[in-house]
Amino acid sequence: MALIVKKFGGTSVGSTEKIINVAKRIIEEKKPGDQIVMVVSAMGDTTDKLIELAKGINKNPYQYTREMDMLLTTGEQVSISLLTMAFKTLGQKAISLTGSMVGMKTDSVHTKGKILDIKPSRVKEELEKGKIVVVAGFQGADSKGDPVTLGRGGSDTSAVALAGALKADACEIYTDVDGIYSADPRLIPDARKMKEITYDEMLEMARLGAGVMQPRSVEMGKYFNIPIHVRSTFTNKPGTMIREAYTMEEKDFLIRGVAHDDNVAKIAILGVPNNPGIAHNIFSALADKAIGVDMIVQSIRNIEKNVTDMVFTIASDDLSQAKPIIDEVADKLNAIAVLIEEDVAKVSIVGAGMLGNPGIAARMFGALAKANVNMDAISTSEISISCLIKGDQLKVAANAIHKEFFPEN
Ligand code: ADP
Ligand code: ASP
Ligand code: MG
Repeated sequence: MALIVKKFGGTSVGSTEKIINVAKRIIEEKKPGDQIVMVVSAMGDTTDKLIELAKGINKNPYQYTREMDMLLTTGEQVSISLLTMAFKTLGQKAISLTGSMVGMKTDSVHTKGKILDIKPSRVKEELEKGKIVVVAGFQGADSKGDPVTLGRGGSDTSAVALAGALKADACEIYTDVDGIYSADPRLIPDARKMKEITYDEMLEMARLGAGVMQPRSVEMGKYFNIPIHVRSTFTNKPGTMIREAYTMEEKDFLIRGVAHDDNVAKIAILGVPNNPGIAHNIFSALADKAIGVDMIVQSIRNIEKNVTDMVFTIASDDLSQAKPIIDEVADKLNAIAVLIEEDVAKVSIVGAGMLGNPGIAARMFGALAKANVNMDAISTSEISISCLIKGDQLKVAANAIHKEFFPEN
């Protein structure tokens, strides 16, 4: 007997036909005595459509984050009810539960909530009754009971967190690719499927844009030490295991993958005083609104006047919320100007193998130079190197770097 949490993403439940197929597959594969918890995303591009709908009311709907959550949580409610009806139609006992019904307690940071605690007693009760429990991903509730969403792609995190809280035997993420690849196969056709990847490397890939897993879900997997199996909804092939360490077979990799992110905006605050506290001023104002800042470059504008330019990147999704905050701070600091560039992208390499291996950065920059791609900013961590480039050069840049580290045999 095993308790298994299985998460199905938007494409996997994109139509009623697909929902029925998912239900059939689960019933077919279920062994007697298995307890199954399903975590489900909104159907297809429902979440995007709901955001568009809100934009029909106000072009910056994210200023009303609570109401956005009220709206966005409806998407998952549609898919859990339909999937549960599909199970029942096929003669399988099942019940749908929302985030708040499964005891998914979050903070109150609407649209970017974090899970604080899960008390899944209701899930256990329903499993004991022999039901498949179908849970709405991407959502929880704060201490007031208000709905809070977990950020785009948040159903991954709901699934892994629930698997941890239930001490599940396995957590499986079913999606529209058959595993984790060395790069997004949509952008890089030569990308290679991996049998396994460590939590740390997957976390870095996800953080740097590999949208196949939400970064928080990987952190959660590491925290609970739950291996995560990422696999296809549409085939039975084994996928990729995300786990603590490699087995011998897959150990010898310098670079695990190339990640890219085009949800990037570059902001330059020109001509601010080069004094202690200036960076704090800018970034704490953004942090107060839960807006994360990524690459940061400070460069001297005028040595005599002790004036610098502060350049950094944020997610383009955050731009409409960030713009008024940045303008206000720039005003306070007497900055010369604020420049915003949206046609930028970030391309990165990730791999624990680069630790103690000099020359990796040079190879990456060499590949970019050969492809005639200019770098605007660079940032590094122990296991990654990222370059900011022009958005329209992303495909060329990512393919060039991938070829450098994953040459065809
Ligand atoms: P779901 O709706 O199932 O959550 P997502 O669209 O969020 O699916 O994630 C799956 C997509 O992630 C794939 O279709 C693929 O284009 C993209 N992706 C990005 N990087 C990678 C990678 N390194 N390996 C596999 N898929 C990736
Ligand atoms: N439906 C949500 C989104 O599109 C959550 C998810 O799919 O994981 O971001
Ligand atoms: Mg996803």
